[in-house]
Amino acid sequence: MIRKLLVLLFILRSITGFCEDVIAIKVFSHLKIVSMTMVVEGSSYTIMADDKQLLKTSGETIFKLMMVNDSIQLKSFETAYGSFKNVKFIANDGKGEIKLKLINPERKPRIYQDDFNVTVEEGFLKVINQAELDNYIAGVVEAESGTHSTPEFYKVQAILARTFALAHINKHLLEGFSLCDQVHCQVYYGKPKYTEIYKIMEDTRGKVVVDEDLNLIVAAFHSNSGGQTANSEDVWGARTTYLKSVNDTFSLHMPNYKWERKMLTDDWLSYLKLKHNYPIEDPLAKNIALSFRQWDRKIYMEASNVKVPLKNVRQDLQLKSTLFSIYQVGDSVVFKGRGYGHSLGMSQEGAMRMTKLGYKHMDVLNFYYRNIQIIDMRKLSFFRDE
Ligand SMILES: [Zn+2]
Repeated sequence: MIRKLLVLLFILRSITGFCEDVIAIKVFSHLKIVSMTMVVEGSSYTIMADDKQLLKTSGETIFKLMMVNDSIQLKSFETAYGSFKNVKFIANDGKGEIKLKLINPERKPRIYQDDFNVTVEEGFLKVINQAELDNYIAGVVEAESGTHSTPEFYKVQAILARTFALAHINKHLLEGFSLCDQVHCQVYYGKPKYTEIYKIMEDTRGKVVVDEDLNLIVAAFHSNSGGQTANSEDVWGARTTYLKSVNDTFSLHMPNYKWERKMLTDDWLSYLKLKHNYPIEDPLAKNIALSFRQWDRKIYMEASNVKVPLKNVRQDLQLKSTLFSIYQVGDSVVFKGRGYGHSLGMSQEGAMRMTKLGYKHMDVLNFYYRNIQIIDMRKLSFFRDE
């Protein structure tokens, strides 16, 4: 895995000029962009169009980029530069910032750091932010954990976001970038508003989570475990050494700890019959379906040799978790559940609670992920020749 990762990084670097510390993120990746403005504010950028240098900015400069006849039309207030297939914004120092505002479709402006590469893709603008890895991580940390978390919680999220980014650096390789900015990869809205995050993150510089064999872990997390996290083999079918069920009292009584859902008894029974061929005509089986209980996490609801996977019930009925019990009330059944999410790895609410109680980021990671090591990603290169 490490060898594969390093080979990939090498390939990425050779074809696109990336290095380990720079990552290419497609921004507004879910939208078809026709036009936008890019405002260079306090820093200086070199603007390249079709690989020729157009200008170096000094002071505030506003550019408008617009799709016209399958090319990018580039203008500033004063000048129409022409039409190109590729426009690059390259920061002349390490402090480059660009305010990006979509006009069509219209979106609120966002501030991004470092370089941009804008190309044409199927008649729309394809906007790639080539950001320093830590600038990208800082953006993800705020997008995933908001502006009111504890410093130790931000550190946890930073290490997990870096681990995810490196483990999935090839996720969009064939499309010419590393990661998109949506939930599919990691949510990223550019530079964080809460800039203290940079200082807090210094403690975690380069750190990633690996398993016993030094493979980057699948850094799964969810909102609330309901008091017990799950085994990866019970949710994804694949066994790991680190996604193991743990008793998690830190998640108890947090905002997403409990949930309820009511549905008609007839609807519940016909769902079981139609979808799982569950024997509702058998009185014993019917009774189990109407008074199913979970104290510890179960994987199935079982009756007369029929196993109903709870993860399928959760998905089909859009329940918050699989950790629920069923109670009959009149002509309905009430699902009383605990937790929110797939329950693998870290519970975000539990982790937040731990940090408020004084636990450090390493304690949180070692509690929710078992048999792991937290190492510097640069040390991965040590294994290059083994
Ligand atoms: Zn993606």
